[in-house]
Amino acid sequence: MKNQPANSRRDFLRSLGVGASVLSLPLSSYANDQYTRNEASGLYSLNTSQPGRKLGIALVGLGYYSKNLLAPALQQTQNCRLAGIVTGAPEKATEWMQKYNIPKANVYDYKTFDRIADNKDIDVVYVVLPNSMHEEYVVRAAQAGKHVICEKPMAITPKECQNMIDACKKANKQLAIGYRLHYEPFTKEVMRLGQEKVFGPVKFVESSDGFRSGDPNQWRLKKSMAGGGPLMDVGIYAIQGARYVTGEEPVSVTAQFAPKTDPQKFKDVEETMFWQFEFPSGAVSNSTTSYAAGVERLYASCEKGWFELAPAFGYGPLKGRTSKGPIEQPVVNHQAAHMDGVCKDLLDGKKLPDHITGEEGLRDVRLLQAIYQAAETGKKINLKA
Ligand code: NAD
Repeated sequence: MKNQPANSRRDFLRSLGVGASVLSLPLSSYANDQYTRNEASGLYSLNTSQPGRKLGIALVGLGYYSKNLLAPALQQTQNCRLAGIVTGAPEKATEWMQKYNIPKANVYDYKTFDRIADNKDIDVVYVVLPNSMHEEYVVRAAQAGKHVICEKPMAITPKECQNMIDACKKANKQLAIGYRLHYEPFTKEVMRLGQEKVFGPVKFVESSDGFRSGDPNQWRLKKSMAGGGPLMDVGIYAIQGARYVTGEEPVSVTAQFAPKTDPQKFKDVEETMFWQFEFPSGAVSNSTTSYAAGVERLYASCEKGWFELAPAFGYGPLKGRTSKGPIEQPVVNHQAAHMDGVCKDLLDGKKLPDHITGEEGLRDVRLLQAIYQAAETGKKINLKA
């Protein structure tokens, strides 16, 4: 996966003839760059391209991620704002209307959702539902003539992903996936370190993401709704990490399920699993994902050194270091940076970068399926087309 690690800070350093080994500028140095520091919060936000013009976003599904991360982030965004909601719960609708000053005309339930087509306040529909519902709501949003952001994993099967891509193409609308880390400065820096071979070619990547899951009745533990267990939920970050650090697509995968320590809770999905990718350059990666134990690390061993992020995938602040010293980057609100980044391109009439689109989501869903196939069969799966 070739992302866009380049940022203007690096270009600025280059213009001064400063090499990549200079990784620790004081944070105030970023103020004149593409980020501006908010003095009250201490966080940095992406500079806006069209001051005053904000796209209206409607959130579909007002669960954990919408309530605690996206809606608060939309109070800080420069290029978009919370304009509408789609929910099946009338009490949530009332609460959100009051809290965020959302007019009744911009509130929909799952039956009235398609009427969003007539609402000029809403430019972008953001689908934040259980994984098995992504396809239906992305297709309906595209048919309503809206750009779409869809949470990860894009869907459960490649066929669903393809339907979503086709629907957006047919409607001439853009489709972004909720890959917030692609707009996160520490992540962009490790993309650059790996893809530009700053420490020489990457030889080995350790990329793992897991946590202890709580409620035994949640949809995340039901295969029909989640598509699988931790691999679908957070393992996808570990896949992404290995891909964006190497800048390559894996050519083969082997995988193993760990024994279940709570077979009742995990009767439908895996509890912990491991997988290994081989990349065309000869680089290899090893990954773990789990709902039984916490792990969050992205480590790359290169010919002339190493670099790592730990924590690497959560909401931040992320932390990084290299064999030459600490990685210093501005701390941003991930969700605000992601939605601002996507909406900036939409406002500017630009095609979204490949690494954030439905095609990227589809690549990951194919890999998720291949990992399960490898673990189920015990065989090495060839991923070459
Ligand atoms: P959640 O369970 O907290 O919320 C899901 C919402 O969907 C709820 O409001 C629920 O009422 C609604 N819903 C509608 N129909 C439903 C049904 N039939 N069954 C269950 N819920 C139904 O989940 P969440 O943590 O907000 O996750 C939603 C999506 O966001 C998932 O795809 C998840 O992977 C993704 N997510 C992404 C991030 C990230 O960092 N990018 C973080 C958390 C979640």
